[in-house]
Amino acid sequence: MGLRADIDALMGRARTDLAELVAIPSVADPRQFPPRECTRAANWVVDRFAEVGFTGLSLRETSDGSNAVYGVRPCADPDAPTVLLYAHYDVQPPLDEAEWSTPPFALTEVNGRWYGRGAADCKGNIVMHLTALRALGDDIPVNLKLIVEGSEEQGTGGLEDFVERHPGLLKADTILVCDTGNAAVGVPAATVTLRGLANVVVTVGALAGEVHSGMFGGPAPDALAALIHILSSLRDRAGNTTIAGLDNTRTWTGAPYPDAQFRADAGLHDGVALLGDGTVADMLWARPAVTVLGIDCPPVVGSAAAIQPRARARLNLRVPPGTDAAKAQDALITHLHAAAPWGVRVTVEPEALGQPFEARTGGPAFRALAAAMHESYGREMATLGQGGSIPLCNVFASTYPEAEIILIGVEEPLAAIHAPNESVDPAEIARMAHAEALFLRHYRG
Ligand SMILES: [Zn+2]
Repeated sequence: MGLRADIDALMGRARTDLAELVAIPSVADPRQFPPRECTRAANWVVDRFAEVGFTGLSLRETSDGSNAVYGVRPCADPDAPTVLLYAHYDVQPPLDEAEWSTPPFALTEVNGRWYGRGAADCKGNIVMHLTALRALGDDIPVNLKLIVEGSEEQGTGGLEDFVERHPGLLKADTILVCDTGNAAVGVPAATVTLRGLANVVVTVGALAGEVHSGMFGGPAPDALAALIHILSSLRDRAGNTTIAGLDNTRTWTGAPYPDAQFRADAGLHDGVALLGDGTVADMLWARPAVTVLGIDCPPVVGSAAAIQPRARARLNLRVPPGTDAAKAQDALITHLHAAAPWGVRVTVEPEALGQPFEARTGGPAFRALAAAMHESYGREMATLGQGGSIPLCNVFASTYPEAEIILIGVEEPLAAIHAPNESVDPAEIARMAHAEALFLRHYRG
């Protein structure tokens, strides 16, 4: 039998595995689910990877209290390259259970897709790894290492810190970060860039306290109006982000993101325009984008006829590859001060900062993966960006500057990761497992 036939024969097992794993509500937030659920999921990962020849499997506590599963699978040839397989076993909370058409923690098939929290992100990728390894059996000509994180969705940085403290444990020639996906079902892709981010909180002060809008409105400076004025300077009429000193004209050179697909994926209302004068891919993956995350001001109910003495907003700036996130944050802060009208007092507190990421695409692992994807899918592999960030990739890149870091997985747009009614297409698990198996068989560094 060929690899593909072996994988098809393993898909029943893949479904059983995914059903067992989805049934464990491994949300790494003790306020929502007991920590023993995460421990159960971690132990499940240990047991399954022991079956495919991993040794030294153990739970490694990280600085945020979560446990990462670590193990190794050396091959007979000591000179063979080492591939680190990454995934995470924790999941997003189910959110509003009333929004789910199927129970979030019971894998359920509807119209050929498998629904459940984590079915794609990232338990589907764990099952993808297992299916690839089962298909290969003993015929794996590379050294393997495994790291399955337990708090990825919390953003608490346990594994990032672990990598920096134990660089020898995870050292590899190639790192397969399997927590992304294809452009669409059946369209193979590697994610090669991630945007960074720079958050700030801007506070505007104008008056000692609230004053009556009838007695003072007109000449009295209104802090909320000043804040609105400042915020409106961050975009032009077309919707381009316009922060002085930040290039907003770059273009994306990888696969396009078709307008109609983006409109559907984002849930745009009819008649509402896409922003900016670039393509969707330019705006999403190659240019800065600012979002107002929150504003402190009186809510409508309970508001009075008063002029606001102070107001503040929390801003999120997505930083494209090629731009330093700290410089982008500085540019945003300078812009906010310069845009303030009427001499109001402006203070800006920097918050989170994360650098953008750009994978190297010229190495042997990337070429081997592209060939494996082509063979599995019967079409050329595309390169995608991702608008969000994965801080772990930056830590891998700085800790292992020689390593090739490749982002792939089963999380295509229909998977609705992080939303109610998350699902995975089992055909994507099969094709991606096939591609991963081909890659591991043919990649020799
Ligand atoms: Zn994920």
